[in-house]
Amino acid sequence: MGTRLRLQAQFTQRDLVVYPGSLQAQMIMHSAPEEEPRRKVYMAANSSTSGQIKILEDLLHARGELARLVGKPSFAHMTLADKMAKSPENVAHFLNALLDHTRPHARRALRTLSLRKQEHLHTSPFPTIQAWDRDYYCPPEPPAPPVSLPPLTLGTVFMGLSRLFRNLYGITLRLTKVTPGEVWHPDVRKLEVVDEKSGVIGWIYADLFARQGKPSGAAHYTVRCSRRTDDDDAHHDLDDAWDEGALRAIQLSDKFENAHRAKIPGSEGVFQLPVVVLLCEFTRPSVRKGPTILAWHEVLTLFHEMGHAMHSMVGRTEYQNVSGTRCATDFVELPSILMEHFLNSPAVLSLFDIKGNEPLVAGNHHEDPCRSIDTHTQILLAALDQIYHSPAALSPDFNSTAALAKLYETRGLIPYVPGTSWQTQFGHLFGYGATYYSYLFDRAIASRIWRKLFAHDPLNRETGERYKNEILKYGGGKDPWEMVGTLLDAPEMRHGDAEAMAEVGRWKVEDEVSMPGRH
Ligand SMILES: [Zn+2]
Repeated sequence: MGTRLRLQAQFTQRDLVVYPGSLQAQMIMHSAPEEEPRRKVYMAANSSTSGQIKILEDLLHARGELARLVGKPSFAHMTLADKMAKSPENVAHFLNALLDHTRPHARRALRTLSLRKQEHLHTSPFPTIQAWDRDYYCPPEPPAPPVSLPPLTLGTVFMGLSRLFRNLYGITLRLTKVTPGEVWHPDVRKLEVVDEKSGVIGWIYADLFARQGKPSGAAHYTVRCSRRTDDDDAHHDLDDAWDEGALRAIQLSDKFENAHRAKIPGSEGVFQLPVVVLLCEFTRPSVRKGPTILAWHEVLTLFHEMGHAMHSMVGRTEYQNVSGTRCATDFVELPSILMEHFLNSPAVLSLFDIKGNEPLVAGNHHEDPCRSIDTHTQILLAALDQIYHSPAALSPDFNSTAALAKLYETRGLIPYVPGTSWQTQFGHLFGYGATYYSYLFDRAIASRIWRKLFAHDPLNRETGERYKNEILKYGGGKDPWEMVGTLLDAPEMRHGDAEAMAEVGRWKVEDEVSMPGRH
């Protein structure tokens, strides 16, 4: 166990009080050679009160009732109707195909862990790997770059991003001045997104440093989406002004908006230009510590969020409510996950070199042998989300813990631990009700697009333009199956039916994405 914990125990001569989720709890899970402390931490971290379970089950029941009110058999049926998946049956086709592919890899990884446990504890051959063994026998590897890189300052990373977009789309990022009162904090930087033919196509406000009172985590959100404006009925808006004040407000708004519209050369119409915000929580630069140097996982986050931002920037749809990222939940992560593939390509990373001529040497990157176990777990979670939002949730004897146990008994690789009820901590059940499979689904599509189109030549302008024009431009304004089918030259995908869903499952998940639920 960690030296600090051992010293603490010796010093106090008492049992340690360890809180689930604390740093100490993590240290125990990673490094306690004895099984018992790890088991205890696991049990404590995965138990719930009956009140917590009731809240979850009430929520699931209420969702089921809501669906019944609108004539659907379950919340999943209601939610999935306008997604790529269309139905719970189709989600099952996808998850089953993906599980079939992942299971043998995960089994192999578990066998390796089992051998390690056998050698460590001198047990009989192939002892069972329990839930509390995973992190000890296979400590999770933090993501690392495939080549060695210069210090990753924000300037270096944004330069790399701008060079990448210039190569792919003829688009660059340009830091620009803000007017007094324009931004909500002096940390905020404004970037102009400039197309080589059309000029400025949108703006990104980058609010990148952590500070008190700011929401934690990383996010991209839209302030104003693109839409077509030349067929607006502005004249009648003025007719509806109820007094002088309203009239002035409408005229002022019109004047402001007119300065943010553009005619895109070669396309019909005038479009409102998008404005988005990029939120991160990087460490602020300081006189003592110098400029902010990003860790690799932070660069991954920035690339991911910039994938969303470019979806917003490039999207040109008739209406703002289908612009860029305003598309189906199970499609929206595709551009952002694809950006993570770009970041793991040595050709793209060569763009980070300030002088542009330093040869890059191999870094400390290697595959995490247990990644397939985690992917397998993610598939089970997606399956659990489907079960919880199925008609079963409306049955009077629905029991979320029993459903979890049954799923693990029938399809799990690591046994369910009686007495635990992990489901109350599955926070995404709330925000992603019945769509938790989306992240895996987009990872599979992104893996396919990367391998088929970009992997061999990631900076190719022609491929970049194709991707921009077949996918990014349409936002949610076109059937995603049409877009993906056309881009991948796979006409059979255009139907978006059960077979297409299973096919995506067979495309597998081959990436370095390790943060499910990031958005
Ligand atoms: Zn995302």
